[in-house]
Amino acid sequence: PLGLSHFGGAFIYTMKDNLVDLGIVMGLDYKDPRLDPHSIFQQFKTHPLVRGILKGGKAISYGAKAVPEGGYYSLPRLFADGLLVVGDSAGFLNSQRLKGIHLAVKSGMIAAESILKALIGNDSSRTVLSSYQTCFESSWARDELWKVRNFRQSFQRGTMRALVNTALQYVTNGLGLRDPLPALSGHTLMKRLVEFHQEPPRLPSQPFNNKLTFDKLSAVFLSDTAHEEDQPCHLKVKDLDICHNRCSLEYGNPCQHFCPAKVYEMVPAETEERLQINFTNCVHCKTCEIMDPYQIILWTPPEGGGGPEYKNM
Ligand code: SF4
Repeated sequence: PLGLSHFGGAFIYTMKDNLVDLGIVMGLDYKDPRLDPHSIFQQFKTHPLVRGILKGGKAISYGAKAVPEGGYYSLPRLFADGLLVVGDSAGFLNSQRLKGIHLAVKSGMIAAESILKALIGNDSSRTVLSSYQTCFESSWARDELWKVRNFRQSFQRGTMRALVNTALQYVTNGLGLRDPLPALSGHTLMKRLVEFHQEPPRLPSQPFNNKLTFDKLSAVFLSDTAHEEDQPCHLKVKDLDICHNRCSLEYGNPCQHFCPAKVYEMVPAETEERLQINFTNCVHCKTCEIMDPYQIILWTPPEGGGGPEYKNM
């Protein structure tokens, strides 16, 4: 499977007579460990064109999410005993159209047919539920994903090759430059800090004003995120020694930057900085599991169904 994802962030502004939805999507296979998708989004809003669109508006909602983009070659087996995988959980997303709702709906419809069969026969074994996979493979949803099966991978080879691949796939039924086109998981492409010492960090050129541009905590407030404060932390870091003694030197603890909700914070302690996990801020985007260079962060469902309350997103 290809571990390819995008980070998606969105704000909703209320204007005089209508709502404006504004979002940004960035590939989670970037190289600079200091890159901060949330800050880049704020910077984007300061462009005169975008600023003009949002003039006089008031931000009323915020959200962030990782977008599964591996495509057809990343789909897992879609069934197991008593279990079907649908929608984003399976990775039903057309990365070329950046659109997956129609595929999620279709997968739900096909899954419902298999579930009905299981209920009628009182048998939810994988043998019965495998009809879901068979139906998907003969549906228009599969055909749509098949035509763009090498689209997203090509962007790891630079824009020019990606454009050539995209053009070729139209005349080769998705074959493109090579089939299947291999790709690397996003976190493996992150470079060490030492390679960026000469370059300034990519941060907004002006401070956040919490009208047009928002700091992370103000954005979390707009997402209506709430978790029980006294529950166990739902973000498990398997080895804190790696965070404190290796990651801080090698990558500068990039979790502080790629998390859009200021969940991960390096705070001063007696002899060194320690990682503090402000888990109640978490907006459940799952970016940390994808971009952590050591793959030691495990996101588990929080107790009590807490999390963001997205509206109009
Ligand atoms: Fe997203 Fe992870 Fe931060 Fe939660 S902790 S907001 S899942 S990056």
